[in-house]
Amino acid sequence: MINRYKTKKIFVGDVPVGGDAPISVQSMTYTKTSDVEATVEQIKRLHFAGADIVRLAVPDIEAANALKAIKEQTSLPIVADIHFNYKLALKAAEVVDCIRFNPGNISDKQKIKEIVQACKQRNLPVRIGVNCGSLESQFEDKYGQTAKGMVESAIYNIKYLEDLDFTDIKISLKASDVQRTVESYRMLRPLNNYPFHLGVTEAGTAFHSTIKSSIALGSLLLDGIGDTMRISMTGELEKEIEVGRAILKDAGIIKEGLNIISCPTCGRIEADLVSAVAEVEKATAHIKTPLNVSVMGCVVNAIGEAKSADVAIAYGNGSGLIIKKGEVIEKLPTDKLLARFLEEVEKEVKLQEK
Ligand code: SF4
Repeated sequence: MINRYKTKKIFVGDVPVGGDAPISVQSMTYTKTSDVEATVEQIKRLHFAGADIVRLAVPDIEAANALKAIKEQTSLPIVADIHFNYKLALKAAEVVDCIRFNPGNISDKQKIKEIVQACKQRNLPVRIGVNCGSLESQFEDKYGQTAKGMVESAIYNIKYLEDLDFTDIKISLKASDVQRTVESYRMLRPLNNYPFHLGVTEAGTAFHSTIKSSIALGSLLLDGIGDTMRISMTGELEKEIEVGRAILKDAGIIKEGLNIISCPTCGRIEADLVSAVAEVEKATAHIKTPLNVSVMGCVVNAIGEAKSADVAIAYGNGSGLIIKKGEVIEKLPTDKLLARFLEEVEKEVKLQEK
């Protein structure tokens, strides 16, 4: 049982973040934001893949000027990502749904004040995006690139925004390694109730990012920490969303689509289980209804696993069983099992959707 921290609910466009809102999954385009057509194309891909929010880099005035045309072509809430030049935040705040600034490279308080004033005018939230690799010098000098340094930076900047009577805040504390990431979020969590944006920054290729993000975000989510998240991967779009949603699903936080239990196979295997499971994944990718199914290579654990599955296959010698809710409903030759199983899965989906 996960006890999620009770955080303040803010809104990024029409997407709630924090409080009792579902944990949202977001990503970032990697086009030049000034290239409106290419950026909109990537936003559409992310939207189709299931992203709730998209973030765009705003490194120059051309990018800031392009935001209006981009915003007109998507219903996904847009976060403008600002480093160094606070004037780009002022321009972006005219059209986007949230401003993310990095306090490590915009530390002049007057400039932050102007960003906050611009956000107040349109009721926009701000993400204080602390990065371990770009801490303000007063924190890096004192604490080094540590979790403590990130947390002190966040506390300092939260206080500054609160003193400006601004509390539509979310916070991220990103390091490129799992331990500092987890440590910093855990350290800051009890000290305020602002929603947290989780992520391991610069997490690498799809393979390494999936592992780092699963460990770090999985640990935090099981602690009840986290309100929105981004999986950072080198050069990926849809995969970031796929992995983000899979982490939420496999942590038991969202129930969505098929949970496929399949054995690792061994010398007792009675069928081509690898192909069978691949076929099940492909044929059921469209299903959003949460179902537990099990596809097992022999009878050793198949009957036990089938007890908690909505629909199951237990392969045997030349034939196998179709099991529903723990009851054997049919024995069929091996080559007939998969089609029958998929038929029963679709039936079960229809039943549950009624
Ligand atoms: Fe091996 Fe059977 Fe277990 Fe699969 S279910 S791993 S085939 S013993």
